[in-house]
Amino acid sequence: MSEPLLKVENLKKYYPIRSGFFQKTSHWVKAVDGVDFELNIGETLGLVGESGCGKTTLVNTILRLEDPTGGTVRFDGEDLFQLGKEELRNTRRKIQIVFQDPFWSLNPRLLLKDIIGEPLKVFTDLKGGDYLKKVEDALETVGLPKSAAYQYPHEFSAGQRQRIAIARAIILEPKLLILDEPTSSLDVLSQSQVLLLLEDLKKNLGMTYILISHDLSVVHYMSDKIAVMYLGKVMEFGDSDEVFRSPAHPYTKALFHSIPDIHSRSLDDIVSLEGTVPSPVNPPSGCYFHTRCPYATDICRSKAPELLRHTPGRLAACHLLETNDTQS
Ligand code: SF4
Repeated sequence: MSEPLLKVENLKKYYPIRSGFFQKTSHWVKAVDGVDFELNIGETLGLVGESGCGKTTLVNTILRLEDPTGGTVRFDGEDLFQLGKEELRNTRRKIQIVFQDPFWSLNPRLLLKDIIGEPLKVFTDLKGGDYLKKVEDALETVGLPKSAAYQYPHEFSAGQRQRIAIARAIILEPKLLILDEPTSSLDVLSQSQVLLLLEDLKKNLGMTYILISHDLSVVHYMSDKIAVMYLGKVMEFGDSDEVFRSPAHPYTKALFHSIPDIHSRSLDDIVSLEGTVPSPVNPPSGCYFHTRCPYATDICRSKAPELLRHTPGRLAACHLLETNDTQS
């Protein structure tokens, strides 16, 4: 079997908290705490979890925008954490990001030909007609006319500006596109148009996506796989349809309870998510979720559950499920 496009193993990102006169490290914020997953070409991984669960730090660490504390990331056959400056720069052109708010990510003083073509200027020697042709092709790919190359961002609607941001992201034909809340600032109509565009790009260009979103219906619609994160750890990982149809982990069940109309699921399976996320500076002992979990027992308070195979293709970190698995 061929190597996955992206393989993340035991990835950790801790931030030191310094205190006292000598600014000694007194605590660590464990923003990402031992994350593993694989992503194959053409797949979409949805990252979900409450604010502060580590989704954005995870992506930034994969991209090496943050220095990792530990673990490995293999992308397209290379160990990203072993690359030198120049090699990393060349690899970065294969990974692009689309941000949440296109209004702030597009320079209002530049024509679209300069905004969309910016990656070409950084990574290629294309000039003149060849440069413009690439920009026009990217515009047409996202459903905008070639003539838009000579317009400014403010002349477009929010949905069109997100198309412009996508055009800029795909102009170098990246292998992996990170979508950071790509539709959260759009109205419903623009949201569905952008989602359809992303689906088309996936089909036609074979794109691979990592999608961060608070909108679970968007994650369900877009994702092949889903990773549910809590306090820097993956609680459940698996096929998106399967996880949405039948969430296994108590945290996933509680999270999905916020969209009960998407699935017909027994009320017995639904638990309510009470309380707030504990501080990552001083996370709970044992299972990080035990302070909010209605099923917590003594072992949950003393021993951290491992992310283990629950059913074929499904991983979950829960003592309750390990027990069920053993008994079945
Ligand atoms: Fe709940 Fe225990 Fe499972 Fe954690 S390990 S999710 S506390 S039952």
